[in-house]
Amino acid sequence: MMKQALSVFCGELRLSVGYGLGPALICPRCGSDYLHSGAVKVYDREEDAAETSVTTVNHGLAATHVVESSKAGNPSSRRQGIAVAFECEECEGPLELLIAQHKGGTFVTWRYAPRQPPRAVIDTLELAVSGDRKVR
Ligand SMILES: [Zn+2]
Repeated sequence: MMKQALSVFCGELRLSVGYGLGPALICPRCGSDYLHSGAVKVYDREEDAAETSVTTVNHGLAATHVVESSKAGNPSSRRQGIAVAFECEECEGPLELLIAQHKGGTFVTWRYAPRQPPRAVIDTLELAVSGDRKVR
C-alpha cells in the first residue's frame, strides 16, 4: 500500500444497512463499506493545556507519549479526542474516524487523504505540464 501524508479532509459520517450487526461505516473517500479498524489513539488533554498525553493501542500493545499539544494530531482543538485508524478494501490511503470534544459538544467526523487519480492520469497531466511529447 502506498504511504500518504494524512491531510485534514473532513467527511460526514455515513452508514450502510449493515450485515446483521447494525449499520456499517461507509468510507468517506470511495463509498465502500469494507473497512478494517486498526490503531486507536486516545488524546488526553486538560482544556487548552500545552501538552497532550497520547496513548496508542495497536497489535496488542499500548504506548503513551506526552507531546506538545499543537503537534499532537488531536482531533479536538482544546480538549480530549479519539482517533480510530481504518483501512479500506476499495481505496488506498490513511483514514481515521475521529471523536472530538469541543465546548460541551462531542463531534464525529473523518480525517483522510484525498483519493489519488490512477497513475495513467497522473502521467498524462505531467506530460501536459512539461510539454514533453515522448512516449514512456
Ligand atoms: Zn475507500
